[in-house]
Amino acid sequence: MSNRTFTMIKPDATGKGYTGAILDQIIKAGFTVKAMKWVRLTEEQAGLFYDIHRARPFFQELVDFMISGPIVAAILEKDNAVADFRELIGATNPANAAEGTIRKLYAANIGENAVHGSDSDENAIIEGDFFFSKLERF
Ligand code: ATP
Ligand code: MG
Repeated sequence: MSNRTFTMIKPDATGKGYTGAILDQIIKAGFTVKAMKWVRLTEEQAGLFYDIHRARPFFQELVDFMISGPIVAAILEKDNAVADFRELIGATNPANAAEGTIRKLYAANIGENAVHGSDSDENAIIEGDFFFSKLERF
C-alpha cells in the first residue's frame, strides 16, 4: 500500500470557482499536498493522460472537456491515499455519489465531474510523473 495519490481539479470546477472549496475539503480530510500546479493541457497531453480510454465512445468528449480550461494537478499524501481519496470524491457519475463527497457537491454530470483521482498505486505514480519533475515535488 502506497501513501500517495494523484488528483486533478477539472476545468468545470476551476471555471465555476470551486478550486478553493475543493482543496479545503481535501486538506480537512487529512491529505497533505506534496506537489501542485495550475495548468492548461494541450489536446495531445490530455489524450496521453487518458490514453487508456482512447477506444471508448466518450474519449473525444473527455479530451475536449479536459482542455476547455485550466486544471489544478496535485500529488497528495495520506495513509491509504488511493482508496481514501476515491471515497472522498465519490462515484464517477455524481448522481450515484454519496452525500458529502466532492462529486456530489460540485460535479454536474458523468463527464463534467469536478475531480480526478488515481485508481491504483501504480497509476498514482504514473500520473504524478506525467505532471511533475523531481524538483517540483516534496
Ligand atoms: P477519473 O479517472 O477522472 O478519476 P473515474 O476513475 O471515476 O474518473 P473513469 O472510468 O476512469 O472514471 O473515466 C474517466 C473519466 O472519463 C471520468 O471521470 C469522466 O470524466 C469521463 N467519463 C467516463 N465515463 C463517461 C461517459 N459515459 N460519458 C462521458 N464521460 C465519461
Ligand atoms: Mg479513472
